Amino acid sequence: MIYLDHSATTAVDPRVLEAMAPFWTEAYGNPSSIYGLGRRAAAAVEAARAQVAGVLNCRPAEIVFTGCGTESDNLALRGVGLAQAARGRRHLITTPIEHHAVLHTAADLAEHFDFEVTTLAVDRAGLVDPAAVAAAIRPDTALISVMYANNEVGTVEPLAEIGAIARQHGIPFHTDAVQAGGYLSLDVEALNVDLLALSAHKFHGPKGVGLLYVRQGTRLWPTQTGGGQERGRRAGTENVPHIVGLARALELAQADRTDENARLSALRERLAEGLCARIPDIALSGHPTHRLPGHLSLVIQGAEAEGLLIGLDLAGVAASSGSACASGSPTPSHVLTAMGFSPQEALGALRLTLGRANTETEVDYVVEKLPEIVARVRGMTR
Ligand code: PLP
Repeated sequence: MIYLDHSATTAVDPRVLEAMAPFWTEAYGNPSSIYGLGRRAAAAVEAARAQVAGVLNCRPAEIVFTGCGTESDNLALRGVGLAQAARGRRHLITTPIEHHAVLHTAADLAEHFDFEVTTLAVDRAGLVDPAAVAAAIRPDTALISVMYANNEVGTVEPLAEIGAIARQHGIPFHTDAVQAGGYLSLDVEALNVDLLALSAHKFHGPKGVGLLYVRQGTRLWPTQTGGGQERGRRAGTENVPHIVGLARALELAQADRTDENARLSALRERLAEGLCARIPDIALSGHPTHRLPGHLSLVIQGAEAEGLLIGLDLAGVAASSGSACASGSPTPSHVLTAMGFSPQEALGALRLTLGRANTETEVDYVVEKLPEIVARVRGMTR
């Protein structure tokens, strides 16, 4: 199998598994327990927190471990949104290309808590204009949420500029960095962000663990209350092995990223050039340069993506038609339509996301196979 769906999830790195191993059956204590076994678990969680804080250039106390990227986004929007609502601020600014973890949470705040949501326009490449963020700010703006890198088209947003504007106005700035975690700088000072969400399974860590960076001084209402873990911001016994795995995976991915990004960009170019030369009526989507290194997104006219995915699967290639969470639904992608693609064009969207194990030989195989599959699917569609 050739795995070209690294934006959906990634394999756990064996070095990550190794780091997690002691915390299942040997050092299995509850970090809240006072005896040695508990203290060992607590020390592992705090070591992981410090490791992550080193990557994010923040204080360990600013890291909240969560159950996934979705939970981190929910905690950011609901936690900050509701704290701000208590001070009369109920206006959110976000973009139409966010993951549903953000979009549906914003919609929920609007429906049940009287929030107003300004959804900014994006351009044909999926970029948000910082000037549009500035223009949308109101005296009652509670939070600005703009993703770091888009999961469907790979576009990387100008966070530092948007964050500077948010800071000038004293408005908390959240970013969903789930797709960026393994590839881009996560320095929260350079990025000017106040809240940043990550998910371990996107960078060769385990599924079911994430984190939210919360800048000191940011008002946040906990959305989960109980035993007071994570300094009262996310109650529940800590998932020790997963937290250890997240920290190790983040450290490994970030340590390798300069060389690995160069390798992935070269593979993506080879794939893009090969496919564009062999398939008529094909277009690249997303920004040509401000993009994730291994992320190739295509719009193939007259060929429905579902058929392409089945054809690729039969040829031994795992790919996606947009975000994994949205696949299986026949509606065109909200990301592509927001970028100005017609619903018909959006139905021909194909996402090929390269990662650690991919090679030139695999890319060449896909360049050889996909044109035949496209021709077959087009023949069936027309
Ligand atoms: N945000 C983005 C941009 C994503 O791509 C995803 C997952 O695909 C999520 C959030 C959700 O993360 P998780 O799967 O950890 O809930």
